[in-house]
Order: sequence, then structure tokens, then C-alpha cells
Amino acid sequence: MEKSIEQIKTEALSEIQNAADIEQVRTISVRYIGRKGLVTQYLRDIPKLPAKQRPEAGKKANQAKNAIEAAVEDAIGQLSRQKGPSDAVDVSLPGRPVPGGTIHPVTRITREICSIFERMGFDIAEGPEVETDYYNFEALNIPKNHPARDMQDTFYVSDNIVLRTHTSPIQIRYMDACKPPVRIVAPGKVYRCDSDLTHTPMFHQVEGLLVDEKSSFADLKGLLTLFARQMFDTDTALRFRPSFFPFTEPSAEVDIRCVICKGEGCKVCSQTGWLEVLGCGMVHPAVFENVGYDTEKYKGFAFGMGVERIAMLKYGINDLRMFFESDIRFLRQF
Ligand SMILES: [Zn+2]
Repeated sequence: MEKSIEQIKTEALSEIQNAADIEQVRTISVRYIGRKGLVTQYLRDIPKLPAKQRPEAGKKANQAKNAIEAAVEDAIGQLSRQKGPSDAVDVSLPGRPVPGGTIHPVTRITREICSIFERMGFDIAEGPEVETDYYNFEALNIPKNHPARDMQDTFYVSDNIVLRTHTSPIQIRYMDACKPPVRIVAPGKVYRCDSDLTHTPMFHQVEGLLVDEKSSFADLKGLLTLFARQMFDTDTALRFRPSFFPFTEPSAEVDIRCVICKGEGCKVCSQTGWLEVLGCGMVHPAVFENVGYDTEKYKGFAFGMGVERIAMLKYGINDLRMFFESDIRFLRQF
């Protein structure tokens, strides 16, 4: 052994003292007390010494090793404090998972509805949520004092301005701006003065409108059947019931065969086997007159649906309010 253990220890401690960063301290530590370090080597060679010298040499070597270990620890501690806690990163720690967000079920269903119609050649149209009385009612064949205004509990901003009660004003705005043929779906928020288990003051609708020279009620039925089969099951049956809307004539409400019980009767469909999902009809000539379309030449149909209603059926959700409570446990499931 060329150098005494004392010498090795002194050198190690002075090197550690002068080390500029943690990396350097670690390198020094390996050089002295690593698996092939000088001190380790020294300890390993002790059995080769004469028996008498062994206890003393062992004791000194262990002391040196302990001193170097302590110095290394001190130096690392000191250097990492100098750098500040933000820089003292232990890259060997496992990463913390970042929780991923999910798309809200209402947004998801709105996109799904729109994309089904987009594939059938429909464009997406949008309009303002704060509407004039004219676009929300008048142009849709709902004049003042018309009994149909009672069907909807309207939020009035002023005498002439309302929060739109349906997405139908988008149809009027679109027809005002564009000549036929028209083929649009209009998604959006609508507002009604109503709140209970099955109603919220704000909810979402998707409205569709098709105008051309040849459209018929048969086309409407075919289109909605295709839609329902893509949205729900490929064998979904539809039922059209006569109904009334001021802006369509004739009008119908559309039921689909219950997606839960397949028509057997259950709680969701009130044992009827059918679920109401849509309203539709042929556009009323008075509406076309309001936007200056030739009623002799053009025919059209419109349909509308509640997005939350579709989402509830699709995901088996039984309380409408779940959609708007922002409960992360609920939202994370989608
Ligand atoms: Zn059912």
C-alpha cells in the first residue's frame, strides 16, 4: 500500500470540501468509497497484512470511510440548500400523474348528433342566445297574444329582447341570409323559466332544417329513422304522432322504441315501451313568407331535439341536474 489511510482520508476530505457541485461530490465519493474506491480497496487488502497490524488498520480504514461518508452527505446537503429547493430535483423519483380532463356528456352528444347530420350533407349554423322577439317568436309564426307563447316560459330581457327559448331563430337568421337549398343543423343553449327534476332553466337543443324543391314528409321520416339508428341501435323503431307547433304544418312528435327495455315496458318509458325524443314537421308557409322564400317552389322540413334528453337515454342517467352540477365523479365517467 503506497499511501497511508490517513493520507487518503485527508485528500478525500479536502477534495469534498472544494467540490463545486453535487455531481462532483458524487464522483469523489465513488473514487474513495465506491465499490472500487481507494478506501474500499484498502479495506479489502487488510487481510493481506501481517496479523498484528490488521486490527489497527481495520479500525483506521473504517474511521476514514465513515468520515468520508459523513463529509459527502454534509456537502450534498449544503450544496442543495445553496441551489434552493426548486433546483434540488431528485430525478429518480417516479412522476406524479396529471389528471386528464374529459369531454362533458352534453358536448359529446351535441358533437355526435351534429356529426351524424354532417355525414348526411348538413352544415352547422349558430346564432345569438339573446334574441329579439321577432326572431324568437314573430318570424316563426308565433305572433303576440298567440296561445303558443304560453307553451314556453320566456326570460324577458326587455319588452322586445328575450333569451332564446329554442334554437329555431337560427333557422330564420340562416334563411334571411341564404337562398335555398338549405341543409343545416343548429346546436345551442336555450333558456326557459322552469326548474325541477326534468327541467333546468338552461338546456341544449339541436335543430335541423332542410329546404329544397322536392322535400317531403317521407324524406323527413327516412332521415330521422337513419339518425335514430345511428344514434341508438341499428334496429331502433320510430313512431310519429300528430302534434302541433306554430312553425310547422303538419307537425309530429317522434318516439323511439325504448332503448332500455326494447319495448317491453319499464320505469324509464313509463311502461309504454316508447320514448319521446324529437319534434318535427313540414315548415309552415307563413315562415317561408317571412324570409321571402317562394312557397310555391320550395318545401322544407324542420326537426328539433333536446340534447340532455338524448344523453340521458344514451347513458342511462336519470336526473337532468347531474349535467350541471360539475361533480367530477360524475363527469369523469365519460
Ligand atoms: Zn322502457
